[in-house]
Amino acid sequence: MNVGIIGGGIMGLSLGYFLAQQGIETEIFEASPTPGGLAGPLILEDGTAVDRFYHAILSSDGHLRELCTELNLVERLNFRETKMGFYYQNKIHSMNSVVEFLRFPPLGWIDRFRLGLTVLYAQFVRNWHQLEGVNVEQWLLRLSGRRTYENIWRPLLKAKFDGGFDNTPATYIWSRLVRMKSTRGGANQKEEAGHLIGGYITLLQAMTEKIEAAGGKIHLGCPAQKIEIEGNRAHGIRLRHEVRSFDAIVVTSQLPIFRRLIPDAGQEYLSFLDKTDYLGLVCPLLVLDRPLTGYWTLNITNDNIPFTGIIETTTYIDPQYVGGHHLVYLPKYTAPGSPWQQKSDDEIRLIWLGHLQAMFPHFDPARIRHFVVNRARYVEPLHGLNAAHLIPPVKTPVQNLYLATTAQIYPALTNGESVTRHARQVAEIVAANGRQ
Ligand SMILES: Cc1cc2nc3c(=O)[nH]c(=O)nc-3n(C[C@H](O)[C@H](O)[C@H](O)COP(=O)(O)OP(=O)(O)OC[C@H]3O[C@@H](n4cnc5c(N)ncnc54)[C@H](O)[C@@H]3O)c2cc1C
Repeated sequence: MNVGIIGGGIMGLSLGYFLAQQGIETEIFEASPTPGGLAGPLILEDGTAVDRFYHAILSSDGHLRELCTELNLVERLNFRETKMGFYYQNKIHSMNSVVEFLRFPPLGWIDRFRLGLTVLYAQFVRNWHQLEGVNVEQWLLRLSGRRTYENIWRPLLKAKFDGGFDNTPATYIWSRLVRMKSTRGGANQKEEAGHLIGGYITLLQAMTEKIEAAGGKIHLGCPAQKIEIEGNRAHGIRLRHEVRSFDAIVVTSQLPIFRRLIPDAGQEYLSFLDKTDYLGLVCPLLVLDRPLTGYWTLNITNDNIPFTGIIETTTYIDPQYVGGHHLVYLPKYTAPGSPWQQKSDDEIRLIWLGHLQAMFPHFDPARIRHFVVNRARYVEPLHGLNAAHLIPPVKTPVQNLYLATTAQIYPALTNGESVTRHARQVAEIVAANGRQ
């Protein structure tokens, strides 16, 4: 059996690796000249490779850690204690201990108690299906109360969902609360974040070597143009100058891209795929000569600041691994077609740095070594209320054509942990079908 995989991000490469473990040869086609997709690197002007978007590995990411062990990468995995805070009414409020939590100014005693209870309650929800039809706003209002909702949850949701979250189920915030709580280990409940030295690309390169050792190939800068389908059977991938035949084809891109690759798949299936929406992202990376906040994540609750958080990854990545730089990401989630996606790099720089200067009046622009604007139209699938039936299955209605995409990951959040777990399951399905 030979398998053609479209996409060389975490999904595509880990799928290739798990198939290689079963003795299956794969060829992976990646449009970009570098592998990694959203988790791939960016080369700064001085030649330093850094994460294009901020990425952390959590101590609770069991599947990822197992993979690192399997690939002899454990020594390259580093964890550090980190801090998170809120930027509220022009001040930073640390939120790393019960005492700090109890001091958070916008909330009264009862609100703080209810906020703590919300986090705790989420850990005990066993049947998440019961949250699928509950709107996230209603759920948070019921548990946390109006004041906490208005001061904390609403600004966070508004920022994440580019304004609209009427159709968002409570499973979203539940998954997030469970994942974030899992980073806090031990009796003191300290938060920890980690990374692989070199970034996720270190893991992806190790998997690439295994794929190639098993006879597989990875083609970079090689976009698939179309999947050839005849009589409802996929038989080949059309590239720029040739069509390559495979026994099975797996697409790992986001659904709007997948859809464009299969114009001959039948209108009913194409219309079904169109029903999933995505979030996009504009995410400048500010490269500094010294730390900015000392917080891994600073959540911003002010409506007028366009970026939703300040994420300083060099709080857990030792700057020695990233050219001595300090890396600060300033993300803004947007709808894929939002006007923010169209703004030029210069416009973004002007707006972002203007707000940063207002937040930190003593910030000296001379500290900036680089300012790089990254954008992506499709970063996260949006799951609506009671919309589990819209999740496309791995086996498509087209014979020999499979789909392994982040839209199938629900209610877990999409990250290296959940994506590699999903890729392992898809490898089982593809291999089992090959054996039939
Ligand atoms: C801002 C941000 C922060 C994040 N933070 C974290 C974090 O802290 N921890 C964590 O674990 N995860 C994090 N993630 C999530 C993680 O990056 C993604 O879940 C993961 O990278 C998705 O991998 P993928 O392979 O499914 O998709 P992608 O990375 O999108 O890969 C799809 C690949 O397909 C390729 N492709 C598309 N069309 C074609 C075509 N026609 N032909 C060939 N190739 C094609 C693309 O170029 C791309 O490389 C974050 C993501 C973002 C955006």
